[in-house]
Amino acid sequence: MDDKLMLMIPGPTPVPEQALLAMAKHPIGHRSGDFSKIMAEVTENLKWLHQTQNDVLVLTASGTGAMEAGMINFLSRGDRVLCGSNGKFGERWAEVAKAYGLEVDVISAEWGTPLDTEKFREKLEADTKKEIRAVILTHSETSTGVLNDLETINRYVKAHGEALIMVDAVTSLGAVNIPIDEWGLDVVASGSQKAYMIPPGLGFVSVSAKAWEAYKTSDLPRYYLDLGPYRKSAAKDTTPFTPPVNLFFALQATLRMMKAEGLEQIFERHQRLTKISRAAMKGLNLPLLAPDDATSTAVTAVRPPEAVDAEKVRSVVKKQFDIALAGGQDHLKGKIFRIGHLGFVSDRDILTAISAIEVALRELGYEGFTPGAGMAAATRVLAES
Ligand SMILES: *Cc1c(COP(=O)(O)O)cnc(C)c1O
Repeated sequence: MDDKLMLMIPGPTPVPEQALLAMAKHPIGHRSGDFSKIMAEVTENLKWLHQTQNDVLVLTASGTGAMEAGMINFLSRGDRVLCGSNGKFGERWAEVAKAYGLEVDVISAEWGTPLDTEKFREKLEADTKKEIRAVILTHSETSTGVLNDLETINRYVKAHGEALIMVDAVTSLGAVNIPIDEWGLDVVASGSQKAYMIPPGLGFVSVSAKAWEAYKTSDLPRYYLDLGPYRKSAAKDTTPFTPPVNLFFALQATLRMMKAEGLEQIFERHQRLTKISRAAMKGLNLPLLAPDDATSTAVTAVRPPEAVDAEKVRSVVKKQFDIALAGGQDHLKGKIFRIGHLGFVSDRDILTAISAIEVALRELGYEGFTPGAGMAAATRVLAES
């Protein structure tokens, strides 16, 4: 059936009607007073969402563009950086760092396992010459559904004193608490198609005063992603280049929605959706990739039974129910499916997805669960919350 598609993937995420309608307008001039008003409101609300007084800059870019900008504005050729890598996105940041000629030291963990915070402590404590210029890591590793212990790693970075901390918060910002000012996070990047509840196209990066100090001496090549002009323009409620003005209309609408819901409530909802998904999948006797104490609140990665190809589960769920689930990336392709519960997702949506998965598993011949066991587990979580 047309128009019934339900996105249960960790980006792009579902877009509320208020945002869709906001976009369905003629564009306005980006140098107009009307646009400046929107820019002013959006900038203020972004600071609220980021729990920071730092600059939060908006780029016309995907999340990767925001993260790349966050990395290349505050480092210099040959700088030594520590990159955490336990999934697709962690790997990406090490690649970006290498592409810019940085000296990259990778701390890796198996996909599905959180980064070992002790390894960061050891490397940072051993660096008595203070050569490490930045620690770069992914908070919520979307490829596996693992949440890395950013708070602890950041504490070691603070004890080091010199290194900046640069965080991919693309599927954590707006889904789990990440108090930028309280923790003193220097660079935090995110993207519009995730918790922001609007289509892809905007990237966000928050920048601390300490990072701006490093900007003064940073010599990596950049032009479109040079954050200096974005900062100057933002101070005048404008942007250096033509922004996707209609996406700003949508962003204005969803930030208002987020404020009305409240930060705590947003985090609680994501927590609840995560608990429901995990309990339901356990009820179906399916193993989860991420351990209970390190789970992303944006996505749940599930291993289907041995005999069932994860891509088949996705295909039945899509064909029969118009629900899009995400697959595994790289070596996990066919080995896992991922349930996205990020952004504009309600209890109703997750219950629907769970039922669909149950039906699909039955149809694919898996009988390792009592019919309704997934929903029963989900119901118990809901009753307790
Ligand atoms: C979605 C995502 C990104 C950004 O990907 P883009 O395709 O560039 O928007 C980065 N990091 C994580 C953890 C993500 O989930």
